[in-house]
Amino acid sequence: MGAVASKPHLLPVQESPTSAAARLKVENVSLRYQSPDGKTFTALDNVSFEVPDQQFAVIVGPSGCGKSSLLYLTAGLAEPSDGAIHVGGQKVEGPGADRGMVFQSYTLFPWLTVRQNIEFGLKRRKLPANEIRSIVDFYLGEVGLAKFAEHYPKQLSGGMMQRVAIARALANDPQILLMDEPFGALDSQTRLQMQQLLLQVWGHSKKTVVFVTHDIDEAILLADRIYVMGARPGRIKEVLDVPIERPRNLDVVMEPEFIRMKRHILGLLHDDLAEVH
Ligand code: ADP
Ligand code: MG
Repeated sequence: MGAVASKPHLLPVQESPTSAAARLKVENVSLRYQSPDGKTFTALDNVSFEVPDQQFAVIVGPSGCGKSSLLYLTAGLAEPSDGAIHVGGQKVEGPGADRGMVFQSYTLFPWLTVRQNIEFGLKRRKLPANEIRSIVDFYLGEVGLAKFAEHYPKQLSGGMMQRVAIARALANDPQILLMDEPFGALDSQTRLQMQQLLLQVWGHSKKTVVFVTHDIDEAILLADRIYVMGARPGRIKEVLDVPIERPRNLDVVMEPEFIRMKRHILGLLHDDLAEVH
C-alpha cells in the first residue's frame, strides 16, 4: 500500500460513477436516555449545526460527549428526543440508502468475498450485472484492492477491511457518508495511510462527509470544518474552519496554522475536562 495516496494529485482521476451529495441540517437536537432507576441522562443538549453539501465535516470531542449518538441519529438508527435532522431537505425518519456508514469495528460480511461485500447493496437495488461490475471495479481501484477482489475478510489486514468498508459505502452512492472513528482500531502507520487514502477518494467523489474522531491531528488533516463538542451534556462548543490548502499531506502537521489550531482545540477540550473537577 506504499503508493497509496502519497501523491493524491498525481493519481489518475477517473469519472466517479456516483454523483449525489447533500447537505446535513441538525436542528435543536436533544437526546435523553432514561436509566432503569428513572433518572434522565442528557447525551445531547440542543445541538444545531449545518454541513454544506460536498463538505468534509469532522466532529471532535472527548469520549462520552455524544459523537456516536449524533451519527446514530443522523443514520436514523435512533430518534432524537427533541429536534430534527434533515439530509438534502428530507427529514431523517429511519435508516436509508442516502446515508452510508463506516464504523470503527469491522462490519464486513465474513462469508462474502471483497467483491461480494462491495456489491451487496447494488445487488439489492437490482442494478444490471455489468453496471454493478463496473462500479465495484471502480471502487476496488479507488481503495487499492483490485488484486484482492476474490479474497475473504479474514485474509485481509484491518486497514484493508476498512478500505472495503469505505468502498462498500461509496458504491451505494449515498448523499452523505457517516464515519464513526473508522481508523480508531488501526496502528498509527496504517492510520496515516488511510487518512491519505480517504482524502484522495473524497477528492474524487466529493461526497458530504461527517467524520467523528477524538484525534485532533486527524481532525485538522481531514476537515474543511471542525465541530468541537463538549461533554456533560453533549453539545457543540465551537465550529472552526480549517484554512489549510488542499491537497494536504502529512507535512501539514508542521504548518503554523495547523499548530495554532491544534493548540486552540486542545485548550477547548482541556476546558471541558476542567469543568468536571
Ligand atoms: P462518544 O461517541 O462521544 O464517546 P456516545 O454517543 O457513545 O459518546 O455516548 C454519549 C453518552 O451517552 C455517554 O455518556 C454514554 O454513556 C451515554 N449513552 C450512550 N448510549 C446509551 C444508552 N443506550 N443508554 C444510556 N446511556 C447511553
Ligand atoms: Mg463513540
